Amino acid sequence: MGLNPPRESVVDRFLRYVRIDTQSKEDQTVVPSTSTQWTLANLLAAELEQLGARDIRTSEFCMVYAAIPSNLPADQRVTPIGFISHVDTSPAVTGANVNPIIHANYQGGDIVLPCDPSQVITVAQNPVLAEMLGDDIITTDGTTLLGSDDKAGIATIMTMIDILGQNPEIPHGPIAIGFTADEEVGIGIEKFDVSSFGAEFAYTVDGGTLGEISDETWSARTATVTFLGKSTHPGTAKDVMVNAIYALADYVLQIPRDMLPETTEGRVGFVHPYIGTADVETSSVKILLRDFDIAGLEAKEELLRELATSTERKFPGVSVRVEVKENYKNMKEVLKHHPQLVENALEAARRAGLAPFMMPIRGGTDGSKLTFRGLPCPNIFTGGHNFHSKLEFNSRRGLEKTTETLVHLVQIFAER
Ligand SMILES: [Zn+2]
Repeated sequence: MGLNPPRESVVDRFLRYVRIDTQSKEDQTVVPSTSTQWTLANLLAAELEQLGARDIRTSEFCMVYAAIPSNLPADQRVTPIGFISHVDTSPAVTGANVNPIIHANYQGGDIVLPCDPSQVITVAQNPVLAEMLGDDIITTDGTTLLGSDDKAGIATIMTMIDILGQNPEIPHGPIAIGFTADEEVGIGIEKFDVSSFGAEFAYTVDGGTLGEISDETWSARTATVTFLGKSTHPGTAKDVMVNAIYALADYVLQIPRDMLPETTEGRVGFVHPYIGTADVETSSVKILLRDFDIAGLEAKEELLRELATSTERKFPGVSVRVEVKENYKNMKEVLKHHPQLVENALEAARRAGLAPFMMPIRGGTDGSKLTFRGLPCPNIFTGGHNFHSKLEFNSRRGLEKTTETLVHLVQIFAER
């Protein structure tokens, strides 16, 4: 872009952050779920200070907030926008002793990870590699995850701030920064302070493939289906016992095979029985319901209720209860009223030389919760791939193009 370079390159910054273990932990009641997340949060607060950010606040919940003031004339009001990424990494794969490996000037072919040759990033499973010739690919050594999810988001946001500091001629309005804890275990975002954040809109920088922008997530509910039978001593059970386990087993087998996560993709939703208990007196199963459309979600809930009724008929003496809770809603319901958020992100990616595209997320983001709490929040790519796995990777170009996109994005808000 013909700009002064940042004081530290985005790659160097990324390599420093991924070496810090910030793995979060499931089934905890306090945020942060692991004290290790503080190491990166405190470091980021100190580095934000060095980069000239203002109003740096670290909450008791390991959330780091900061502000970059507008550099426009006082009479020029620009919508304050925010950038958000999470410090924690997935509990699915260890994040201790991450040893990032740079495969400089990649020339094609499968990438065997040096410390565990059974871990191979194959061209067959990662067709994006064909577009990465000459790039410097950053992988793990095969024994941990990389933590590009979401230290790529953090490194690119921090480098954007660095670049804005080195190039004061780049016009921008007020920018709010939020680094969150415990995104991966779903409990952190409740502690995010929307009211004092300082932005009307924000972007989570937590996506994948370069150019991929998302303003849709699942609408998500969880059903708990409980089967009540009648237990008695099996020695004297004849004509008395009603074994709820059979009703449970029959119920889950009635779920259509073409409606499961293992048989669906793209925009098609699913139902997913994922955990339960089998017991004569009381059996139960938890079932995820996911769809991009509320009507589709309603239909899935209705199906589960119909199956409950037919199961009761088939198993006399068993009563079946269906309880449904909402987890989160498709952020598109709100974001469709703010089309400029996506338009500006697409334009920023184009100015960075990318071919941006929209991709619905078959999951939720911090943004899906924030959007319904008054902070509309689409998601932007980071260049990362194979999240939550030892095969996770990103690249120099991935990090640099994401950073460039963010710098363009703040300028676009200032222009429009
Ligand atoms: Zn993430």
